[in-house]
Amino acid sequence: MSTATATPLLEVDDLVVEFPTRRGTLRALDGVSLHISPGEILGVVGESGAGKSLTGAAVIGLLEPPGRVASGAIRLHGQRIDNLPAEQLRRLRGRRIGAIFQDPLTSLNPLYSVGQQLVETIRTHLPLDAHQARDRAVDLLRQTGIPAPESRVDHYPHQFSGGMRQRVVIALALAAEPELIVADEPTTALDVSIQAQVIALLRRLAREHGTAVMLVTHDMGVIAEACDRVAVMYAGRVVETGPVAEVIHRPAHPYTRGLMAAIPSLAENVDRLAQIDGAMPRLDAVPSGCAFHPRCAQALARCRHERPPRLSVGATQVACWLHASPAGEEPT
Ligand code: SF4
Repeated sequence: MSTATATPLLEVDDLVVEFPTRRGTLRALDGVSLHISPGEILGVVGESGAGKSLTGAAVIGLLEPPGRVASGAIRLHGQRIDNLPAEQLRRLRGRRIGAIFQDPLTSLNPLYSVGQQLVETIRTHLPLDAHQARDRAVDLLRQTGIPAPESRVDHYPHQFSGGMRQRVVIALALAAEPELIVADEPTTALDVSIQAQVIALLRRLAREHGTAVMLVTHDMGVIAEACDRVAVMYAGRVVETGPVAEVIHRPAHPYTRGLMAAIPSLAENVDRLAQIDGAMPRLDAVPSGCAFHPRCAQALARCRHERPPRLSVGATQVACWLHASPAGEEPT
């Protein structure tokens, strides 16, 4: 399924997002780079506060003010999209980039049937008449696994279960045939069995439609199930990125190793990050050098004051001094 050699559909290049506050500017994303090819699912994973949702929000142009892109670039098919006027961005968001959030109710209007909402989105973006748009709405519900879509299309959001509602949201995100879907914790609120179905659906959509998916999650288990590649984030930075199988079986960054301990199938009954003491730093207290150094059992002296660059380790890229050529460093 991997399309690693294809031209990237989405490129995020050295992205810096800042929040001006009365007590100074907080840097929430600090040089984030990643890319996604058509038909590829990239997982963006990290603990709460790592910057993964913010990265998704920046890509879909929904940064909460006063957050702003301070430097770097976001490109769709090579075209900058981070500096577009609001109206152009809004159109792009519906037409070329779809969004799925954790709570389906934030994406659905309780006052309208799902069919009305699908038809409106379809007709905003595609040149179809009302009849054709309704046919497409029914077809989308069928594709996303809603039983009896011909009758369900006239039902209201509250008449669907949580899992079915998330399928409706996926249908809505697909309505305008976007090239990219940004899905932020799309399965977190669902039962495990429903989670697996929604993941299978996202995988099928990527494979059959060539849709690129950015899947934001805190759950390494979801990454293992759903994704082709993964970007692990910590304190607003990507610390490791590579093919999922590689990163899971040979995690190169100490933080990734800690996250791996949270996958139940790999580490029975281990609490999340049980092997890593401490917590994600606050934005106004990001440590110097490698931001992970106060929590890292393998920290070297240089980790405290020198920020590690991204280094290649096999098919993976990792920002950790352990993988630099030796410079006479000893563990502290
Ligand atoms: Fe640990 Fe140093 Fe690697 Fe950071 S750069 S993860 S502190 S060894």
